[in-house]
Amino acid sequence: MNINNNNKRVRVRYAPSPTGLPHVGNVRTALFNWLFARRTNGAFIVRVEDTDQNRLVREAVAGILEGLRWLDLDWDEGPEVGGPYGPYMQSERLDIYHEAAADLIRRGHAYYCICSPERLKELRKQQSREKKNPGYDGKCQTLSERELQEYRDGGNTPVVRFKMVRDETISVDDIVRGRVDWNSNLTDDFVIIKSDGFPTYHLANVLDDHLMEITHVLRAEEWLSSTPRHIALYGALGLKPPQFGHLPMILGPDRSKLSKRHGSTALLEYRDMGYLPESMVNFMALLGWSLDDRTEILDRSALVESFSLERVVKSGAIFNIDKLEWMNGIYIRSLSPEALAGRIRDYWQLSPPTGIPQPVDMAYLCRIAPLIQPRLKTLVDAAERTEFFFKVGLDHVPKDLIQKGMDAESTRAALEESLALMGISDELGADRLEEAFEDLRLKLELSRRQFFSLLRVAITASRVSPPLFETMEVLGRDRCVDRITGAIGALRG
Ligand code: GLU
Repeated sequence: MNINNNNKRVRVRYAPSPTGLPHVGNVRTALFNWLFARRTNGAFIVRVEDTDQNRLVREAVAGILEGLRWLDLDWDEGPEVGGPYGPYMQSERLDIYHEAAADLIRRGHAYYCICSPERLKELRKQQSREKKNPGYDGKCQTLSERELQEYRDGGNTPVVRFKMVRDETISVDDIVRGRVDWNSNLTDDFVIIKSDGFPTYHLANVLDDHLMEITHVLRAEEWLSSTPRHIALYGALGLKPPQFGHLPMILGPDRSKLSKRHGSTALLEYRDMGYLPESMVNFMALLGWSLDDRTEILDRSALVESFSLERVVKSGAIFNIDKLEWMNGIYIRSLSPEALAGRIRDYWQLSPPTGIPQPVDMAYLCRIAPLIQPRLKTLVDAAERTEFFFKVGLDHVPKDLIQKGMDAESTRAALEESLALMGISDELGADRLEEAFEDLRLKLELSRRQFFSLLRVAITASRVSPPLFETMEVLGRDRCVDRITGAIGALRG
């Protein structure tokens, strides 16, 4: 199969319907189109398919574009950036669809239909009783001018139906699925212009793909069943269809279609859960595509370099959140301390943590970042892991301070000595702190576990924290002195 469509410059599109927040499955489609465009130096176009007025959600377009921007999937033509094939909102292209529908009617490929919803419902019932395929029976193909006029005079607007070809095999050479054939008789005369004057998805999609010179339609598998309608429309319009590639379904771990039941499905929820856009891009790229069945970590440039439609698979791709989390950890660890601190700051601007004063002291956060980096899975965890660095007074609990084999008195004595040690020293690096405290430990005749656990609780008020002496170095002498003093105070009760 000639995937490069006779060496024409690749033009692909992401054609979301703004009916809600973009779903990860939908964004995977955007990503594959974007990767293919960037791989081939082609154009990536965003076209908003807002023809279903009943399902329209006003804020959805903004959410869709925000999602693309978050992932840094830039578009060459579309909303905000414009382009030579615009407008890129279908609701602004109604004339085009009406003109095409009128032309189809003139040439006998479409007709007005005035059947009432009640009649259609009755028809469906009858077909189901008779175990026939459901679908329109073509009654209005023979509608007279007079009947149509009367209908209009009554203040009604007829729909327009496409006269589906009959007794033909409709075939497509799908880039992903190979050859697929359909019996044209299984498709009814579907509506192309609704009574509200808007086109249906089928007509608008086909016309715009043609007018925008789309070379490859890469879309989710759920649209495969619409493809015979589209091919028939291209035929009636006298147009050459683009190449089609239907991307595999995204499944939950139980192998059923990914849905809310499996957890979050909206792309931006993943941003809110502290995933990095680069992890999302890498993770989504592997939902139905692979480089070699082995390589998991492929950053944006590696993906652009290696993406190919030949390696898109047919079988459903499993959305495994554990893998995403693992990948996120890897991308987090690949950031420089400054970059990680920047991501954390941006994340906190989006959802401010309680207990960490905002705006955060960036110089301080840059020093904290490498300490938490090795264990961080998502940016959400950052607040919990860094909070103690920012607290002014810690809530020391005496029983947490007093270690096994020690009592309040020996604990207090060890803390007093520690305070004296901190008091006389200048700002020290982690190594020097460790040496000094190790000497003190020997002098106090405490085990490492006893003394360093005590010190850790005194300094952080928590049992889990980054390595102790590095933490102390970053906190600095004054904070450490305050904290040890606070711990001594807590022991006094
Ligand atoms: N508007 C359709 C959607 O929401 C586009 C399908 C297609 O790409 O043809 O996904």
